[in-house]
Amino acid sequence: MSTTDTALTSFIDIASDSDFSIHNLPYGIFSDTTDGKRRAGVAIGEQVLDLSVIEAEGLLNLEGGSYFDQPTLNAFIDSGRNNWTQARNTIQSLLSSDNDTLRDNADLQKKALFKQADVTMHLPVQVPGFTDFYSSKEHATNVGTMFRDPNNALLPNWTEMPVGYNGRASTVIVTGTDVVRPSGQLKPNADERPVFSACKRLDFELETAFVVGKGNNIGQPIAVDDAFAHIFGMVLLNDWSARDIQKWEYVPLGPFNAKTFASEVSPWIVTMDALAPFKTSCPTQEPKPLAYLNEKDTDNSFDINLSVELLPENAESATVVCETNFKYMYWSMAQQLTHHTITGCKVEVGDMMGSGTISGSTPDSYGSMLEIAWNATKPVTLKGGETRSFIEDGDTVIMKGYSEKNGIRVGFGEVRGKVLPAINFDFDK
Ligand code: CA
Repeated sequence: MSTTDTALTSFIDIASDSDFSIHNLPYGIFSDTTDGKRRAGVAIGEQVLDLSVIEAEGLLNLEGGSYFDQPTLNAFIDSGRNNWTQARNTIQSLLSSDNDTLRDNADLQKKALFKQADVTMHLPVQVPGFTDFYSSKEHATNVGTMFRDPNNALLPNWTEMPVGYNGRASTVIVTGTDVVRPSGQLKPNADERPVFSACKRLDFELETAFVVGKGNNIGQPIAVDDAFAHIFGMVLLNDWSARDIQKWEYVPLGPFNAKTFASEVSPWIVTMDALAPFKTSCPTQEPKPLAYLNEKDTDNSFDINLSVELLPENAESATVVCETNFKYMYWSMAQQLTHHTITGCKVEVGDMMGSGTISGSTPDSYGSMLEIAWNATKPVTLKGGETRSFIEDGDTVIMKGYSEKNGIRVGFGEVRGKVLPAINFDFDK
């Protein structure tokens, strides 16, 4: 039996369009409403399998102890690849139709299976570091065209390295967390001093993030052909962005307050093992990267369908405003991780590394409102007739992602965040 065996079925009812097939088995941290205790689970169909129960029953047999009766996945991830493989194979077997251990044990099912609708999801890992890259050529070109020079939209370093910045791990939040509209310095008039105001150009950025599964020692870069083995899995990321704050603050040191109020992630970490059947190549890299970034394996990207929906307060239904694909990313995750560590920077288990906004080549595949509404010159009309150039108070942004091939579907679920009004600062009091 293998993870790509299309004949593999579960005794649990799973809809054919479910993100959480028996081929997926993503890890998350949940609590249920009657007991606030956080522990690890795996999503299967519309349910969660409580791994702390399965582990306590002695069914997992992982090296080095127990890992799932814990409020984060860091210890499990840190325990290494042998355990990742053992856990995945064992859980897949326990959930399969032809294994009677869980299938025929009603008491165990009652203890170990919860409806996803009845549980609360939490951040799956304690995040020591958050980094965000800028690796979609289409996105970088669009932004450069709008704000600099259409004829030289990409800065010279862009095709030579995966450009990125170190963000704030402390503001990585899980789906369902409301986002308060940030306030800060805006400079609406070039000839006047800045003003303090609520952000007027609040935006989403459609991204994925990978979760580091194996760190390095300070001073010891990760070689590009080894880098992929350091990645545990991926989540969806909405890198909430305050465009007007960003525009005034970002020269010369890059993003600061505009990016550090909310980096919102989906709750289930989809493992690289689950994504393996959907490998594909990055776009051709020209010029050929410097040797330290030159990967031998050109099957270094993934075919992952991604979408963004906008749901205004009181609207009857959401409107899809973007459909794109992870495979458009110019730089691979391995190249990003190698470049991150090339000076000797230490990365740690649980670090999250954002892809950068994932835009395709057509307007319906742009991964931010800045691009979709082209700097507010082409507002989007939503179902029901409302228009948007940026995100309004009460709006909910929903991002989804899945891979599908030969009848196997592996999805991420969603990351969903609602915008609340800005704090009413009263400085005269
Ligand atoms: Ca970003």
